[in-house]
Amino acid sequence: MILVGPAGADDVVIRGARVLDPVEGIDAILDVRIDGGTIAQLGSELEANGHRVIDAAGLVLAPAFVDPHVHLRTPGREDEETIATGTAAAAAGGYCAILAIPNTDPVVDDAEVLRGLRARAAEEAWVPVGFLAAITKSQAGAELTEMGALAAAGAAGFTDDGRPVTAAGVMRRALQYNAITGRMLAVHCEEQTLTVGGHAHGGVVAAELGLGPWPSLGESLMVARDLDLAEETGQPVHLMHLSARESVEHLRRAHERGVRATAEATPHHLCLTDEAVRSLDPNLKMNPPLRTEEDRAALLEALRDGTIAAIATDHAPHSPEEKDVPFESAPFGVTGLETSFSAIYTYLVEPGALALGTVLERMSAGPAAIFGLDRPRIAVGAPANLTLLDLEGRWRVRSDRFKSRSANSWLLGKRLRGRVTLTVAAGRVVHEA
Ligand SMILES: [Zn+2]
Ligand SMILES: [Zn+2]
Repeated sequence: MILVGPAGADDVVIRGARVLDPVEGIDAILDVRIDGGTIAQLGSELEANGHRVIDAAGLVLAPAFVDPHVHLRTPGREDEETIATGTAAAAAGGYCAILAIPNTDPVVDDAEVLRGLRARAAEEAWVPVGFLAAITKSQAGAELTEMGALAAAGAAGFTDDGRPVTAAGVMRRALQYNAITGRMLAVHCEEQTLTVGGHAHGGVVAAELGLGPWPSLGESLMVARDLDLAEETGQPVHLMHLSARESVEHLRRAHERGVRATAEATPHHLCLTDEAVRSLDPNLKMNPPLRTEEDRAALLEALRDGTIAAIATDHAPHSPEEKDVPFESAPFGVTGLETSFSAIYTYLVEPGALALGTVLERMSAGPAAIFGLDRPRIAVGAPANLTLLDLEGRWRVRSDRFKSRSANSWLLGKRLRGRVTLTVAAGRVVHEA
């Protein structure tokens, strides 16, 4: 089992929602009956059978979300996030499964650390968690981890995220190991000799503000390299948090050649441009940085046509002591689990840039498929992994309302539309607003 966490066996009837599962081809007003954590019946005016009844008239019921890119900061920085708080944040955001990134202290680079985390998640997690393991020991980029042993111990995949795998030869050998482990390799694409000292996209805004540039080429050069290595080895690769138009173009061409590459984009890169950085709010500093309108448009187009198959938050909690400092001193990273759907709904779906069905697919079935996880689906016999969405709901993002232990959100104080009102994960009601 890749995912660990408590399973449940709740008995619930969700009545009268607009049931929307774009992959199953369902869009209808239906009742959904959950018996012992499994979807038992879809239909009209279903018998409650003594189950708890949730009135969902006017709401959308969709497959719950899957986030393949979450920094749980555990072990090592439990002051910023724990398995319990991070997965509670995920539940509040409508997620039924998340994958945690191994750039912790210690790094998840051996089976013992991995087994310890999985044991804790089985006790503490609100939603099932999978743990990615490091590609290289200590994420130092030199020596591969024992990928076979880590896969056997339950690694959900491999990544050195936070850093690139600098040496092409090391990356090539890691890809060759894919054939043995069968687990996805996810890469943070950054050519650090081009991004050193970079704090914002290498463009007009950074120049005007006097911020060190982090140019698009710093990403796209590494994207091109990793796509070429995936092609040469015949192994799949997953590109994390794409931000630049040039990267999207490389990926598109690789797909045309038959390269098995997938990619994700984050809500912040989809919703914002580097114009927002003019505020010098440290909660707008992330790696890769926010880019231009042209880049954002390319990401949206790629998300629409499936070139980018997943929306991932890159939820990256930071303590106030670290983050509430001048822009250039602040670390990269923002939180996102509790705001992702609402941000995308407010900034992209309501204005007509993305269709709701596309968003639901790219937040659930898309990321699940990349990492070989079971697709959350609304079908009789499937485990209940559901999110109930109030598209008319409005709310203001407040730091004191987060389940996450950190509040470094780019949306603080913003009014959003679209609220997650209920999450069912692995058969258990884990969030109710
Ligand atoms: Zn990264
Ligand atoms: Zn990350």
